Amino acid sequence: LYNTVSCCLHIDVSVLQSFSNNATHNWEEIGEVDEDYAPIHTYQVCRVMEQNQNNWLHTNWILTEGAQRVFIELKFTLRDCNSLPGGVGTCKETFNMYYYETDGDRALKESRYIKIDTIAADESFTELDLGDRVMKLNTEVRDLGPLTHKGVYLAFQDLGACIALVSVRVFYKRCPFLVKSLAEFPDTIPGSEASQLVEVVGHCVNNSLPLYEPPRMHCSTEGEWLVPIGKCVCQPGFEEINGSCQVCKVGFYRSLLESLACSKCPPHSVARQTGATACSCEDGYYKIDSDPPNMACTRPPSAPRNAISNVNETSVFLEWSVPMEMGGRKDVRYNILCRQVLPDGRGLEECGPNVRFLPRRVGLSNTSVMVADLQSHTNYSFLLEAVNGVSELAKDHAKQYVSLNVTTNQAAPSPVSVVRKGHTDKSNIALSWAEPDRPNGIILEYEIKYFEKEQDSSYTIIKSKETEMVVEGLKCDIFGYVAFQVRARTSAGYGAFSRRFEFQTSPYFTAFTCAQKQYCDMAFIPMCLCVPSLRRCGYSKAKQDPEEEKMHFHNGHIKFPGVRTYIDPLTYEDPNQAVHEFAQEIDVSFISIERIIGAGEFGEVCSGPLRLPGKREIQVAIKTLKAGYTEQQRRDFLWEASIMGQFNHPNIIRLEGVVTKSKPVMIITEYMENGSLDTFLKKNDGQFTVIQLVGMLRGIASGMRYLSDMGYVHRDLAARNILVNSNLVCKVSDFGLSRVLEDDPEAAYTTRGGKIPIRWTAPEAIAYRKFTSASDVWSYGIVMWEVMSYGERPYWEMSNQDVIKAVEESYRLPGPMDCPEALYHLMMDCWQRERSNRPKFDEIVCLLDKLIRNPSSLKKLVNSSHRYEFTPQNNNVSKTSQSYVKSFILKKIYFENLLILMLKPNTNIYVFGFKQ
Ligand code: AMP
Repeated sequence: LYNTVSCCLHIDVSVLQSFSNNATHNWEEIGEVDEDYAPIHTYQVCRVMEQNQNNWLHTNWILTEGAQRVFIELKFTLRDCNSLPGGVGTCKETFNMYYYETDGDRALKESRYIKIDTIAADESFTELDLGDRVMKLNTEVRDLGPLTHKGVYLAFQDLGACIALVSVRVFYKRCPFLVKSLAEFPDTIPGSEASQLVEVVGHCVNNSLPLYEPPRMHCSTEGEWLVPIGKCVCQPGFEEINGSCQVCKVGFYRSLLESLACSKCPPHSVARQTGATACSCEDGYYKIDSDPPNMACTRPPSAPRNAISNVNETSVFLEWSVPMEMGGRKDVRYNILCRQVLPDGRGLEECGPNVRFLPRRVGLSNTSVMVADLQSHTNYSFLLEAVNGVSELAKDHAKQYVSLNVTTNQAAPSPVSVVRKGHTDKSNIALSWAEPDRPNGIILEYEIKYFEKEQDSSYTIIKSKETEMVVEGLKCDIFGYVAFQVRARTSAGYGAFSRRFEFQTSPYFTAFTCAQKQYCDMAFIPMCLCVPSLRRCGYSKAKQDPEEEKMHFHNGHIKFPGVRTYIDPLTYEDPNQAVHEFAQEIDVSFISIERIIGAGEFGEVCSGPLRLPGKREIQVAIKTLKAGYTEQQRRDFLWEASIMGQFNHPNIIRLEGVVTKSKPVMIITEYMENGSLDTFLKKNDGQFTVIQLVGMLRGIASGMRYLSDMGYVHRDLAARNILVNSNLVCKVSDFGLSRVLEDDPEAAYTTRGGKIPIRWTAPEAIAYRKFTSASDVWSYGIVMWEVMSYGERPYWEMSNQDVIKAVEESYRLPGPMDCPEALYHLMMDCWQRERSNRPKFDEIVCLLDKLIRNPSSLKKLVNSSHRYEFTPQNNNVSKTSQSYVKSFILKKIYFENLLILMLKPNTNIYVFGFKQ
């Protein structure tokens, strides 16, 4: 038994297992030589002339070493019965291979064996070959699984052939021990089922740790490691060198998991030992927690310089320059200490809470401050200090200040801060107020200004020597409010007005007494009833094609407010923003990848369960972006998610979310058990009722109606882009292509499949890129044809150029076999040259609904003898007509200069224009 690993399938290093001889019957062990005259060991049987042969050859018990699927490669020669003189009657040209699984080595009866396969030779040898010593060696490989026991016996049953068994190799595939991204993955035996993936959690190598999550890989049945997820990184103090983690040298450190190599300690810091995760600061230098590890150690700044003051009455404007020494940091701030010199120079006292600092006293980022509300004719001393992020840590660092002495001037009184309301009636209010906090001299009088609340451009001023007065003959606003402001005057002039105080003249004073008419007029303005115009106003613009908008509108496709419109992700400056706007980010730990289900443009498509917290587990499809992608590829890959995420319809594939924060990047969608529609139909040819087929078509049309209502043009509608779930529900998918076609005329020929999907695309879209919902309707007609012909290729093997030409010449696909006439008429309508004559998707849905409700309408089938009748313009298409018949050809056999066609029953064909 040979264990092979996927990386090195050295299966030709072979030694044949010896067979137990006791049950060989007529098999003989014979030594031979091969083409190169090297000795080989064979088992032979050749009882071709005798009746009722049943010769068995067993292997010994082969330990399978835990493999669940093993491969058996046979090399053998087989005699051509025709070349045997007279022995043709009993001679066989095949033999059978069997197996039997057990947990121990014990003798067995042939009847217990299970057949693996009948083995026939690709090449049998004749008498002539024997004479020439030409060895026509056949090689056949079969696989066996799932195996559940410790070992297996193989047996070969001959029923009367002439066989020489030259070699039997039994092997299994395994994913070899692998170190990737600092994680070790053990030698792993794949799962038993074809396409099954076995998830393996990697073990981080010495001195490394998982980054965010444990690394995982998936072992395929072919012995290949696929879909790597997560990785390990060296732990702090170590760096990755040649796939292992090496300790950082003295003077170097590594702290962050994200940085790869050890770094030299930044200025004013040291690492005295190996394996440092951070460097420590030299004496007199400091670091705060928020400083990045690669930042130098720093110290407090020196004092501010060049401080000057500018006095204006009782305010002082202070200004200074940045310190000479910033300490190596950018976070320098300034603090002000304000002290008042006591009368007669009796010392200094800290300024009281009434002094205002603009914008503030501490933590100033600019090099100036306004100090207001100081006392007039007073000496002040200001200390200016510069601090930075490490000043707090540098306790023993002597503080450095710059000081400024200032004397304030005479000043006007400060504003009155409180005005109170006393007795009021209909048009009078009694007011009182407090003296200003800082009168700055003797108050000579007060000025009272009042006005209607919202009309301060027209006011009245009255004066008072007292701090109270009754204001009479007031005018009010419609709710009776009057606004007041008061200011004081000293010999230095007027102070500033107080803020506004608003008082109502009387609690019984109502709007009706003040401004009755005005109020009533307002109350009776008729309400604007917009209901009839609502639909029109709400018409939301289709973004893709201006003509589409008109079309929707003119054809009664008025959009209602609330119907969402597709937003082209191109309108986002940052495509990542579009992805996160429309797609939910999913944590990769909620996803398990179980098997590969397909190959996408950007990487494998897998499936597995999605377990979102608090939600029921569901099966999902997982599209992965293969490693080594460019930024553009990542964007193109996620593009599909930004489109899909905008849709919510039972016939549109549902996006569950995206994984972009870890690698590989993934798009998660609902899982469609039956895969793509074209393959599904081919696999189940003729298996569905017409109603089932129409049901599928109805679903697709309904999804397309939704897309066209959203203003989205698909451009690549084809059965291969429809997915089918276990309930036969069809959903439109594949939203990747439209942008490529939009952006780059060349790219249209290089997207997946290599070309614009010519066979599915409307003539105006091919000719001048006029992609609209009407061109999607054309493609829908082709999808109908694909469905009704169970996945037949539209226009068979005609070349794209021939298809374009034939369509141009009004040739249309013939009705598929057994296709109801009503459906073929609908297809033909979808293929109207004039796009405005094609039906709209809602008309298609409507018609299909009618047909489903009334199945007798589907009884009349397309007349098969009419299927190849061309319209008069089409008579000249005979050159390509040989391609058209292909849908009815079951098998084509070339035999020397003859072509034999096997046709479907009841097929009338006219064959013309064959070339040599
Ligand atoms: P795509 O790249 O979308 O064309 O996907 C490639 C293949 O993966 C398809 O042809 C399907 O066979 C399969 N596939 C993609 N998405 C799903 C899904 N949601 N459910 C099942 N199979 C899918």
